[in-house]
Amino acid sequence: MIKVGVLDLQGSVIEHIEMLDKIEGVQPVRVKYGHQIDEIDGLIIPGGESTTIGKLLKAFKMDSILKDRIEKGMPVWGTCAGMILIAKEIDGEEDAHLKLMNIDVKRNAYGSQLGSFVVEESIPEICNEPIPLVFIRAPYIETIGNGVKVIKKVDGKIVAARERNMLVTSFHPELTDNQLLHKYFINSFFS
Ligand code: GLN
Repeated sequence: MIKVGVLDLQGSVIEHIEMLDKIEGVQPVRVKYGHQIDEIDGLIIPGGESTTIGKLLKAFKMDSILKDRIEKGMPVWGTCAGMILIAKEIDGEEDAHLKLMNIDVKRNAYGSQLGSFVVEESIPEICNEPIPLVFIRAPYIETIGNGVKVIKKVDGKIVAARERNMLVTSFHPELTDNQLLHKYFINSFFS
């Protein structure tokens, strides 16, 4: 069994747990405490509010343990706010959070809550058929650095990318019925 944690401080946690539960060979774990980070094989950092999740990570002294495990190769997938937490740079902000992935992200890049939308598109590396991509006050990636591979662009903006053991998506596959992104994370990041 692969133990995949979902960081359970704030945001769309249960939806990711339910998706992982449907994948054979995967045991989902709600991660609330630092010591649990040593007991998992990989982690999803969910969408929510990156400022809040970032503050809670620090308050519960989970930030350095998490950064350390990801730097040592633990697979991680950040969706939406999770992408912002992993990014090395946040446009217009002096400091970033975990500063792991070589990307510069723009928060709330599509405007306010009203700027939320769904598109149906394929993701060449993952599927040929269109799947729903749900954007909720989403970020996109403005620039990428060395080692980052773009996985998906929508309207010319980068909304999914990977670098070594790290995957990020601006959109929320856990809010759809489509398991392809979760399966992609499991199949291509754990060996
Ligand atoms: N706007 C949120 C942020 O900046 C992210 C939104 C989301 O995760 N759905 O953290």
